[in-house]
Amino acid sequence: MKLKGHHIILLLIMVGMLAGGICGWAFGEKMLAVKFLGDLFLNSLMMMIVPLIVASMITGVASLGDIRRLGRTGLVTVGYYFVTTGVAAAIGLCLANLIKPGAGVTPVAHELPSMVGEKTYTVVDVIVNMIPKNVFEAAAETNVLPLIVVALVFGGILTTLGEKGQPVIKFFAGVNAAVMKLVYLVMMFAPVGVFALVATKLGAAGGGEAFWGELFKLGKYAATVLTGLALHAFIVLPLLLFFIARRNPFKYAFNLLTPFATAFSTASSAATLPMTMRAVEKRNKVSNEAASFVLPLGATINMDGTALYEAVAALFIAQAYGIELTAVQQLVILLTATLAAVGAAAIPEAGLVTMVIVLTSVGLPVEGIGAILAIDWFLDRCRTTVNVWGDSVGAAVVDRLEVSRRATRDEVEEY
Ligand code: ASP
Repeated sequence: MKLKGHHIILLLIMVGMLAGGICGWAFGEKMLAVKFLGDLFLNSLMMMIVPLIVASMITGVASLGDIRRLGRTGLVTVGYYFVTTGVAAAIGLCLANLIKPGAGVTPVAHELPSMVGEKTYTVVDVIVNMIPKNVFEAAAETNVLPLIVVALVFGGILTTLGEKGQPVIKFFAGVNAAVMKLVYLVMMFAPVGVFALVATKLGAAGGGEAFWGELFKLGKYAATVLTGLALHAFIVLPLLLFFIARRNPFKYAFNLLTPFATAFSTASSAATLPMTMRAVEKRNKVSNEAASFVLPLGATINMDGTALYEAVAALFIAQAYGIELTAVQQLVILLTATLAAVGAAAIPEAGLVTMVIVLTSVGLPVEGIGAILAIDWFLDRCRTTVNVWGDSVGAAVVDRLEVSRRATRDEVEEY
């Protein structure tokens, strides 16, 4: 294989990640000195989210040509999200029952982070907030879901305007292309950014010794979550990719190593979105129609890793507190973990906040979250990577089931 530019960047990103781990491990808090480099990388990613979502969704929907087509694509996409998230939560539940990570653990009281226990939104709130009072306010707050809704409707309407809509569609297509180029520039900085983010996070957690100590204390719990994530990432999703999307899972995953490294270092599916979109479209050649629809929405609501972790964590807490759960209660955990994952924002440790929904649904003590806090920053990185993988597989599946099918049908009709 000839070494190309993007291979070299990828190699440097991997080296950056490893070096970040080694430096954070060895030098602990001293590594906070490079925090600004991580922030720089994070800011560059975040600044692209709003223009990228708006421009790519409008162009994606406009390229469907007919708004009615959105209905089926939407159904297939949402179906994929729910099935895969539910399967992930079920894997977590099964493993936690098998391994019993919480048995014999004495829960230690920890102060909960202030974000836990903040007002949690009801389903009605979520629906009402999907229509923003002010589009610019939603954009300014990077409030992704309302922006997606507006872009979808706006893009759909543009397709009905004929000639008049064309310049606007072209404008957004131009913005989309420009942001994609910008992603490429930011990617050049990724090796340094990833290094700094990993090093400062591990450093802030007290370096290698402290991390190892925490991991050891919660070893069985962390091992259960990681085993579940591995099963989902290495078996379930590749099978879907192979049998439904008809893609080579190794090649598809290899092309996504940059978004994976970004997800691991930022712990945010939203911040990773620009990298994911570029890799899925440009490297894995998924159509813009599918990618621009499935990925932004997926980053916001499709979180397989988070659902799996929430299910394991809830059972861990029940076991640690010696609370027996009935089969029905476990089913409730399965459902609420799926919903809590949908509701979790695509930002670091958001899953911890929506855990409250799962715990209260079956009367488990919310203080239990304190018992899993110490290691959450690390597990968050791992589950975010799986979340991004799930979205990317979804784009290929929808591309295959909907977009290609439509293309074939159109050809037949033309003929
Ligand atoms: N950090 C995760 C994400 O952005 C959400 C979570 O906390 O599980 O995908």
